[in-house]
Amino acid sequence: MLTSIIGYPRIGAARELKFWTEDYFKGNLGEASLLENAKRLRSAHWQTQRESGIDLIPSGDFSFYDGVLDAAFLLGAVPKRYRDLKLGSLETYFAMARGYQGEKGDVKALSMRKWFNTNYHYIVPEIDEDAPIRLCGGKPFDEFLEAKAQGVVTKPVLIGPFTFLKLAKITGAKNNPAKEIFAAYAEIFDRFQTLGASWLQLDEPILVTDLNEKEVLLFHSLYSSLLDRKGSLKILLQTYFGDIRDCYKEVTRLGFDGVGLDFVEGAQSLPLVKKYGFPDDKILFAGVVNGKNIWKNRFEDSMRIISELKKYAAHIGVGSSCSLLHVPYTIKAENGADWEKLSLFAFAQEKLKEVSDIKILAQDDGFTQNPLYTANLQSHGSRRGVTDESVRARVNGITEDSLTRTPGFDERAVVQKKALKLPLLPTTTIGSFPQTKEVKLNRSRLKKGEITPEQYQSNLKEMIAECVKLQTKIGLDILVHGEFERNDMVEYFGENLSGFFFTKQGWVQSYGTRCVKPPIIWSDVKRERPFTVDTICFAQSLTSKPVKGMLTGPITILNWSFPREDISARESAIQIALAIRDEALDLERAGIRVIQIDEAAIREKLPLRKSDWHDGYLSWAIPAFRLTHSGVHPTTQIHTHMCYSEFQDIIKDIDAMDADVISFEAARSSLEIVKSVKDSGFRTAVGPGVYDIHSPRVPPKEEIENAVRSMLKLIPAEKLWVNPDCGLKTRGTEETEASLKNLVAAAIAVRREVDGSA
Ligand code: GLN
Ligand code: ZN
Repeated sequence: MLTSIIGYPRIGAARELKFWTEDYFKGNLGEASLLENAKRLRSAHWQTQRESGIDLIPSGDFSFYDGVLDAAFLLGAVPKRYRDLKLGSLETYFAMARGYQGEKGDVKALSMRKWFNTNYHYIVPEIDEDAPIRLCGGKPFDEFLEAKAQGVVTKPVLIGPFTFLKLAKITGAKNNPAKEIFAAYAEIFDRFQTLGASWLQLDEPILVTDLNEKEVLLFHSLYSSLLDRKGSLKILLQTYFGDIRDCYKEVTRLGFDGVGLDFVEGAQSLPLVKKYGFPDDKILFAGVVNGKNIWKNRFEDSMRIISELKKYAAHIGVGSSCSLLHVPYTIKAENGADWEKLSLFAFAQEKLKEVSDIKILAQDDGFTQNPLYTANLQSHGSRRGVTDESVRARVNGITEDSLTRTPGFDERAVVQKKALKLPLLPTTTIGSFPQTKEVKLNRSRLKKGEITPEQYQSNLKEMIAECVKLQTKIGLDILVHGEFERNDMVEYFGENLSGFFFTKQGWVQSYGTRCVKPPIIWSDVKRERPFTVDTICFAQSLTSKPVKGMLTGPITILNWSFPREDISARESAIQIALAIRDEALDLERAGIRVIQIDEAAIREKLPLRKSDWHDGYLSWAIPAFRLTHSGVHPTTQIHTHMCYSEFQDIIKDIDAMDADVISFEAARSSLEIVKSVKDSGFRTAVGPGVYDIHSPRVPPKEEIENAVRSMLKLIPAEKLWVNPDCGLKTRGTEETEASLKNLVAAAIAVRREVDGSA
């Protein structure tokens, strides 16, 4: 029986790779040193996996930026504009990842997208007609040889050709690169055989998404000829993030030597095996250790799956459900933290041991007596004394009525108009103002104990007062307090609610050198006391204009944390929603008339298959959001915000969130979304961002006017707001002031055209 790891984290246990790479970007570390450091890091990863008893240790999973970009580079998919820069190989690679601005030219980066349903982002390959696909890089071969020289014969891993083809943006009308891509992979097979590899893993996560018959046929025909070329090389077709229901039959019929299936997220994986069986000439690699979450594996559950599988598959291997890239390195880095809690977690390194333990148990007929098994059982038995009965009772008491705000949208719009006395095309911002050095210093000094909480508060108040003054001067209609007390919109809420656990070193790569440290939802979530009210009310005390109370929504908090596994995502979401509801009601009680509940991440956890959207996720995510605001008075205006605009396909659901106003990104994505807002009969008032805050550029007044005018062609003036497309925290103070001045001037100018107001 073999153990196999799909991929290992690569950023370094202390984020070494991040710091080296950033030093290299700044010119403080030479290329040779960067390469040398990376080599040491890879070596450490291989040794750790070997010591943990892993049989099929991956190589090629290391990356300086992203694995899909690595594959593009390997296949020569380097668009002309990057080749024309005539940079060195590594420089070209980084130019594609991050853009290039220098002596040799000015080229933007390739676009970046979320990697399936994770918070990791990949670089979208671009295949242009001028760069025919052909094998031209050497990274996977070099890394295989590097490991071999250290005595580790690895299993090279690559993005599979079908997923690569599906994710790539193909430019040029006649360009149809499928054949070339598969031909390049055939050459890769040859090379690995020559180098002495025994297994090669091809990742095809696209198979867990909805594929039509034609696509399944294409997959089948492309792979059948490719597999003719494999010779003695064993090919492992690896899938993850779900089950491969549309093509299970095709996959198991093809000449793969191993098939990796996900038994954690793949609800249909086991039923598929049971229904169609599994061929005797292949190994079924069972992904039973969750590669996405941080809880210790329940051997009881894993062994139940393995025992079932044994009835249908002659050869079984054990592994993780997906690459371990999505979890932190090791609990050992959490020095001094709460060991009782930590002993219930398994990060990447601990998961290696779990995989090898499960292999031992799978080979032991009397495994229920095995100490590995009994100890695991016991550790789960003693888990958590953290159920909060008052929270459970509240969750159970929720009725359809408590999820529904009354009166309906139209009636509310009328009373709010009167109460808030807003002009047509009201102006506002999304919440945060520039996080200057001063702002960050105030927080970090408090944390280090260099200033007292009183000093911190008084500094904070000064900043808020300045921010309110600035917005008044600019002439915005609805003001914000600036969010200077928040480092991160989820972390801040996690820290102020009970039930969250924060690691010290639990970093996970999000993209390139950017890492995040998601909080762990540890127990039932409860709000002990109001935590935003004082700050918002202070801001409100300085102005007669309405100040928006800023809250993070339950789905975003849930989606950007490591979730619990002992209760459902739905139940966690409702618990968090109740906490946010309490905060919203307290804000209202304290006199706040507009409340914004941000849901920056609601779209990202949509199931990968459309057929699973409504029965699952959306059926509780949208009601959980509604629960946060269903208790407020009709005069209180509820806003929400989303950082993206691609919600055409769930536009009815977004409307069903029943907010009064929604702001979203629209500056970069033309007016597509505004068109669908019109076509769908959207009731919620909208604030499509009129300029892009991701760039320091100051948008001229006329440009904003034109944006608003073209929006007005699709949306009635009574339903349109004027705002930037996201929070301003990453911007500088000067450009922010200039941009917002233009925004207000543009709104006033267009307002005059519409209602003749002065
Ligand atoms: N209110 C938050 C801010 O302005 C929203 C951030 C976000 O959408 N990611 O920063
Ligand atoms: Zn945003």
